[in-house]
Amino acid sequence: MGIEVHILGTASARPSSIRQVSGSIISCQDGIAVVDAGEGFQTRFFEQRKRMKLHAKYHLKPSKVGVLCLSHGHLDHTWGVLPWLQSMALDNRHQPLLVLGPTTDFVIDALLNNQSLPENTPHSDLAIQYRFWQQLGAFTANLGYPVRWVLGAVREGRWIELLDNGRVIELAAMPQPDGWHHNQITALPTEHTIPSCAWQLSADGKQGKFDRVLAEQLELTEAQKGALAAGKDVDYHDRVLLSQDFRGKRTTPLSVVISGDTAEMASGITALEGCSLLVHEATFLDDFTQHAEDYQHSTASGAARTAVECGAQHLVLTHYGARIKDTTDSINEAQSVLGKSPIALSAANDGDRILVKDDGRISHLYWGPEGWTV
Ligand SMILES: [Zn+2]
Repeated sequence: MGIEVHILGTASARPSSIRQVSGSIISCQDGIAVVDAGEGFQTRFFEQRKRMKLHAKYHLKPSKVGVLCLSHGHLDHTWGVLPWLQSMALDNRHQPLLVLGPTTDFVIDALLNNQSLPENTPHSDLAIQYRFWQQLGAFTANLGYPVRWVLGAVREGRWIELLDNGRVIELAAMPQPDGWHHNQITALPTEHTIPSCAWQLSADGKQGKFDRVLAEQLELTEAQKGALAAGKDVDYHDRVLLSQDFRGKRTTPLSVVISGDTAEMASGITALEGCSLLVHEATFLDDFTQHAEDYQHSTASGAARTAVECGAQHLVLTHYGARIKDTTDSINEAQSVLGKSPIALSAANDGDRILVKDDGRISHLYWGPEGWTV
């Protein structure tokens, strides 16, 4: 099924008449990952489900959500978390939910040593918000479904879990959502005014198609075909048939990266050796480059430079500042950086879907009054 991204909010900082704050859904074989959940997230998720039933005929089931990945603690990315978790409790959810987010190394040390948080901890640090949400009832016994609250110093690779009983334990590695086997989640360090990371969701390449024509030509029995298809070599008259000769080329692994808020050329993203889709913030246009540097956001052209550096196949712009009404200038400025490079470029609006198919083809479906159009 590839990977599908639903962009449910393309405004930065605060909602506008046509854009809501951040929140995205990534649907993949193993389930659904939500990346950021700003104010009103659950309403937008609900709306998108309705649209899918009407226009796309497949379901975006909340029970499939295995993980919530927060890119940073700014409230336009997190204020929708608690009401959404509570609604899932009302809906009798029982599936486990993993919550992942970045914090600072020194916050992790303080929490592990049972000390109060250092004075320079930002107000919006996710450690504070996790504790706040737990105090407001977002813990397993109260919600009725298991929730794990996990924080990481992403650059240092240190991860801790804030248990419901107030204890904090150090984890050997960032956990993956329960029962996920085909898709992996990775945190990539980014540059913002508070600890931040991008989130990558990857899918292994699929094994190539079984060569039925060759099997028919050799007049193989069903048992022989079954063995070859299962990866076993088979004796055939005076020779051995190798199972690998009956499989086409493996498809290339897919990966989707959602940047969160970051300055351009964030090291965690540029260190990638290619990705299928990069959904990158583009808060400003070139006339506000200084602003982008000061507040550690990106311009559209900065997003394009990042896409070139990480070898993205397709760049989608999102997270527009209030001055950006329509995305023509954003596209033009990003395109002038991409020049003749093969990187495809598009700009997201609320409700858009981006499909990354198993064969690597990517299409951006634009939401409109009549449904989605290419
Ligand atoms: Zn933001």
